[in-house]
Amino acid sequence: MERFEGPGSRQGSGSMRGSDNASSRRESSTGAHVRVSLRELGRAFRERRRAERARRAANLLRGLEADLFGHRMPSAAAVVAAAAWRRDSCDAWCLRCGGTLVACERASVGCGECRGAAVELDAVVRLGRYAPPLSQWVPAVKTRAWRDMGVLLGQELGAAVLEAHALGLIPPPDAVVPVPVHWLRRLARGIDHTRVVAEEVARACGAPVVGALRVRMAPRQTGGRRRDRVSRAARFAATRDAPRLLGASVLLVDDVRTSGATSAALATILRAAGARRVSLATCAVTDRPRRASLPVRGQRPD
Ligand SMILES: [Zn+2]
Repeated sequence: MERFEGPGSRQGSGSMRGSDNASSRRESSTGAHVRVSLRELGRAFRERRRAERARRAANLLRGLEADLFGHRMPSAAAVVAAAAWRRDSCDAWCLRCGGTLVACERASVGCGECRGAAVELDAVVRLGRYAPPLSQWVPAVKTRAWRDMGVLLGQELGAAVLEAHALGLIPPPDAVVPVPVHWLRRLARGIDHTRVVAEEVARACGAPVVGALRVRMAPRQTGGRRRDRVSRAARFAATRDAPRLLGASVLLVDDVRTSGATSAALATILRAAGARRVSLATCAVTDRPRRASLPVRGQRPD
């Protein structure tokens, strides 16, 4: 009866004896080492591939989460406190166009950019120039549905309006009108950013929010020449609520004033609807390039 011999014992049998046997054992041991090393390499490779797959799956999940359930944004109050940000003082910007004033200019008279030119708005109130950190926070309110930042900026803007009114720079608003956002954009973004800001401004001023304006769908308002922006402003119109503004002092609320074409077009519509005065409260104002690098005159102390 043939006896079962394992792979190791088989090598020791037969004609192989002595030094041949020892060398064979050495070769066998080397072969085993190579096999073990190859096995370890294979295992390490598979583990690395598994970890890579897990990382990709986690990223995919995070992406889906952000798309389906909204973005997770940090606390606006914490971000603002960390940046030690303060809104501009009322003498830092031009009341006619919102641009940053240089040393020799006065807010009530106007700046070198708008002096002598007709302006549609009675006054402009702003939080600051469109530059970091406002140029990071303000767009994030709409593109990342950062609601508590919108609320915080609205509260600051409301306080700025009250301060400007206390200084006699702007009339008290009877109604607050947000710059309208198309319902499809609002649905896609998950936020009506100008309304969030406007509600806080209205609360601070004790005036109602009136949805007196509507907008048709049009290409995004980024870049482009002033002429294109003016033609794009033609997509706005008054709503059935507009007659409520008859004889009222209206405060229009926007997130950013760039060329001023949109706010001018909206002011014209509001006046045609019967508004007696139209002022603008905006989170940020884009300075003309030659002013953009000048220091802002004053920022509110703590
Ligand atoms: Zn000006």
